[in-house]
Amino acid sequence: MEQLKPCPNVLCGSEGVYTDSDLDDHFVECPDCFARGGWADTEEEAITYWNDRPQVFTAEQVKEIVNATLKRVTQHL
Ligand SMILES: [Zn+2]
Repeated sequence: MEQLKPCPNVLCGSEGVYTDSDLDDHFVECPDCFARGGWADTEEEAITYWNDRPQVFTAEQVKEIVNATLKRVTQHL
């Protein structure tokens, strides 16, 4: 079975994420920030959904990425 990746929330990054289920539906949850992966029919599928989650950036980080990209682009004008 695939290994669970740490929480994709950059403010969290917890490695204590775990799989859980509610009746027949499985999901992965972070115990620290309560981020949750997609619901799935099997535990393995839930892990895949979780591991495919994009990383979450804060507004400040997005600003830094945009500014750094703009700087790089304008240097070539
Ligand atoms: Zn988390």
